[in-house]
Amino acid sequence: MGLYFNHSGWLFSRFYSGAEWRLKGKEKEKTIYLTFDDGPVPQATPFVLDLLASYNIKATFFCVGDNIKKYPELYRRILQEGHRTANHTYNHLKGWAHADDYYFANIMACEAMMEKLEEDLDIPKEWKEVRLFRPPYGKMKSAQCDYLKTIYRIIMWDVITGDFDKIRGAEKCLRTAVKDSRDGSIIIFHDSLKAMDNLDYALPKYIEECLSKGYQFKTL
Ligand SMILES: [Zn+2]
Repeated sequence: MGLYFNHSGWLFSRFYSGAEWRLKGKEKEKTIYLTFDDGPVPQATPFVLDLLASYNIKATFFCVGDNIKKYPELYRRILQEGHRTANHTYNHLKGWAHADDYYFANIMACEAMMEKLEEDLDIPKEWKEVRLFRPPYGKMKSAQCDYLKTIYRIIMWDVITGDFDKIRGAEKCLRTAVKDSRDGSIIIFHDSLKAMDNLDYALPKYIEECLSKGYQFKTL
């Protein structure tokens, strides 16, 4: 994975206490947790859903409230097809650039949007009771994390594909993803327009490679 620094310059990736980076040993079989950030959008999410359906694979989608508002049926489709959804703020905010109250209110606005659209859907009770959150850019203040972990499972990652980076290229994106993935890995892709060129190539091949190595895929 790349290096990510917080505002005071410390490598922060392992310092959000209580956040989940990798779920080694949670399942008996070798497992990878596919996650998709920043949707739902019509240019990318249906492609991902169709592909996952063709393999009967379930994944977790970290959704942006503003996109949920624009594309509520797409949000519902994610859940109707057996995937798990999670909160990624309403406006894709960088936690440490905002006051705590403002940041939390933005997260709650996303939550309200999600819950409204889930009301009449038959989804697992545990998913309604235990909610998931991932901070956009992986960035929030440790105090924000401390508060949010009293409400959410905070989900980070141990494998980042860089699929949003067009210069990086699809092949490199795929190779990095395959090389870094291990049992229990939580991997980030993006169901966003920006990532589509890389995703279109890398996601099906990544899935094939993981299946050939004996991995199963599960929701968080
Ligand atoms: Zn994001």
